[in-house]
Amino acid sequence: MGLLLKIILFGVAVYAVWKTFSRWKGLFDRFVGKPDEPARPAPPAPPPPPSEPLSARKMAIQDTIQCAGCGAYIPANVEKCGQCGLPQPRSQS
Ligand SMILES: [Zn+2]
Repeated sequence: MGLLLKIILFGVAVYAVWKTFSRWKGLFDRFVGKPDEPARPAPPAPPPPPSEPLSARKMAIQDTIQCAGCGAYIPANVEKCGQCGLPQPRSQS
C-alpha cells in the first residue's frame, strides 16, 4: 500500500466526515435557527394578571383622601394629617 494511496483515502474520509457534519449542521440550523440573525424578536413578557393589582391599586386610591387644610393626599385611616396636623373627618366610611 503506497503512501499516496493512504493520503488519498485519508482525504476521502475527511471529506466524507466534513460533508456529513455540514449536512447535520444545516439541519440543526434549520430547526434551531441561526444565532446571528434571529428570525423574530423575543416576545415581550406577558402582562401580569390584571385582576389583583388593579383591585389593589383601586383600594389604595379609595383609601387615600385629600387633606382639607393643606391639600396633601393622606391615608383615609389616619386620625389627622401628617403634613399640617389637621384632624380628618371620618365621614367617608
Ligand atoms: Zn393637611
